[in-house]
Amino acid sequence: MDSHAALFELGQKRLAELRKTKPLREGSFQKKLEKNGITRRDFMIWSATITSLLALPLPFSTMVAEAAELSDRVPLIWLSLAECTGCSESLVRSTTPDISALLFEHVSLEYQEVLMAAAGDQAEENLDNAMKAYKGKYLLAAEGAVPTANNGTFLTLGSQAETGLSLIKRVAADAAAVICVGTCSSYGGVQAARPNPTGAKSVGAVIDRPVINVAGCPPNPANITGTLMYYIMFGRLPALDMFNRPKWAYGARVHDNCERRGHFDAGEFVTEFGDDNAKKGYCLFKMGCKGPYTYNNCPTERFNAHTSWPVLAGHGCIGCSEPDFWDDMADFEKPLSRQPVHGLDATADTIGAVILGVTAVGIGAHAVSSIFAKKVEE
Ligand code: SF4
Ligand code: SF4
Repeated sequence: MDSHAALFELGQKRLAELRKTKPLREGSFQKKLEKNGITRRDFMIWSATITSLLALPLPFSTMVAEAAELSDRVPLIWLSLAECTGCSESLVRSTTPDISALLFEHVSLEYQEVLMAAAGDQAEENLDNAMKAYKGKYLLAAEGAVPTANNGTFLTLGSQAETGLSLIKRVAADAAAVICVGTCSSYGGVQAARPNPTGAKSVGAVIDRPVINVAGCPPNPANITGTLMYYIMFGRLPALDMFNRPKWAYGARVHDNCERRGHFDAGEFVTEFGDDNAKKGYCLFKMGCKGPYTYNNCPTERFNAHTSWPVLAGHGCIGCSEPDFWDDMADFEKPLSRQPVHGLDATADTIGAVILGVTAVGIGAHAVSSIFAKKVEE
């Protein structure tokens, strides 16, 4: 892993290179901010927030600010495969993101089915032209799973009825890097849930190159923006975990940063939605919360301008950023009475068990037995 000094140097070199290239969009980022009533101060606060999200020290925030300004030098192609468009919505409707949404407009978005004005043959022409003009330089974001059964014919796109399978292979081949946005492109998502009649797979499973998985259903818009900013700043992918997720976003268990964790440790649980314990904000483990098996920054980043997240709102985490969570984490409103098959859960349990073992004093025996002895009370 690079030291911060080495990373800083890498970022400076990358920005110097970007400065030498021509903008692919008209109008400076600064002007866009001003037009939308965003002050320089707001922008610097946003840069500092993204810096901290990326787990970088504060001196990097000026680099984040400049990278945002230079983002119009980076061509981005966004493909929609077998998906519900929730991941695009998550970013476009994001609110912290007043600035992040503007960044998404400023980056040279060459092809995005939800946002682009072009349609039909013209849209396909735009895609082909962008691929030719920026061969080897464009960033590819992929949303949705890839149906592979029957040669991929469960998903066809455009007037030539190209399969999603053929399209993703073709576009990924000449991309500088591939970002899978959301759990469907990262692991197959609901499309790949049993019995998976379309043979849906993750993007990483059908192309022959490394991907970065920004998992979640949908992923937090901050994690999409942060990944984009990291690539613009350093021209490469960040450190990834064993499921190719950026460590800065998916390095901690939901359970470990949850505001209800004290109640878990004290053995205080909600046993019915709306009961007195629910009103007191007790732990949702017995209502099926999968926070102990799930790695994501939801409790710290939250959604909707940092106002809330599912567990704070009163429902357990369903494990949406883990591989095969539709099969592996169901029933969503009941605790697991077995080890989940996938995910870092086994490690989490082991680590959790060790930590809990060491700090057993003060931890409710009930809570410990709930998870680790797998005897969950109905
Ligand atoms: S089990 Fe869920 S609600 Fe309880 S502390 Fe863990 S993440 Fe929070
Ligand atoms: S709380 Fe859990 S289910 Fe909800 S978004 Fe976060 S990781 Fe996904």
